Amino acid sequence: MTERVMIVTGGSRGIGAATARLGAKAGYAVVVNYASNEAAAKAVVADIEAGGGTAIAVKGDVGVEADIVALFEAADRLGPLAALVNNAGVVDAVAPVAEMSADRLDRMFRINITGSFLCAREAVKRMSTARGGQGGAIVNLSSAAAKLGLGGARVDYAASKGAIDTFTVGLAKELAGEGIRVTAVRPGIIATDIHASGGEPDRVEEIAPSLPMRRAGTAEEVARAILWLLSDEASYSTGTIIDVSGGRSILP
Ligand code: NAP
Repeated sequence: MTERVMIVTGGSRGIGAATARLGAKAGYAVVVNYASNEAAAKAVVADIEAGGGTAIAVKGDVGVEADIVALFEAADRLGPLAALVNNAGVVDAVAPVAEMSADRLDRMFRINITGSFLCAREAVKRMSTARGGQGGAIVNLSSAAAKLGLGGARVDYAASKGAIDTFTVGLAKELAGEGIRVTAVRPGIIATDIHASGGEPDRVEEIAPSLPMRRAGTAEEVARAILWLLSDEASYSTGTIIDVSGGRSILP
């Protein structure tokens, strides 16, 4: 049994994979959740094991409640849960709200919002000192989009991340007396596969010159903020949302 277990939803690629790797270096046994890319998840696990750490890959769609329950049961077999990173999230193709189908909105909100709520529910059951747990920390992945709104492009995604901001503040207050801190990061444009999944494989290169720092961020730059929020260094920070956006989210 390892002492501190961390679950990273969507830990197979991008920000989640960087978080899983840094989490292992910080001493967590890491549960690398993924939706379908088993090879990518196994590569993260192999990296962690090569560095002397402990990790397992667990397939599961955070848009499906039964998968979430099974994910946490798999994590229980590693040891007591200390950290949840609600990272799994999706975007869709650029579209105006007038063209958005109910199916599109259902998928967006089910994965990005409901999935984060249900993962937090399972984490609270295990970590809350009011329920016999030892406390812990939850970090949610918001986005600069929550402030920017992304009108004409992805208002559904932006609104899902606005919900994550409110969820973070509300859950932080709910759990502040139960040994669980709840925080979030708001990344700006980060160089990962998510842009290609939304039909814009060249988005990072195209938008970089217009960003305040003239470049996108890296997954590791976001992961470092996540690891700080999870650590004891952040012991008086709850309800805190850190912008990791190279100045983007403070643009008008
Ligand atoms: P990414 O590169 O597209 O990776 C997404 C990860 O989530 C993959 O590991 C994927 O698994 C997993 N995933 C997708 N749908 C899932 C589901 N239904 N259930 C479980 N896992 C699922 O994404 P990213 O750019 O690292 O983004 C991570 C988070 O940061 C998201 O919440 C995103 O909204 C947020 N964010 C990203 C940016 C950015 O510019 N990249 C900016 C702001 C916020 P598979 O490998 O199996 O597909």
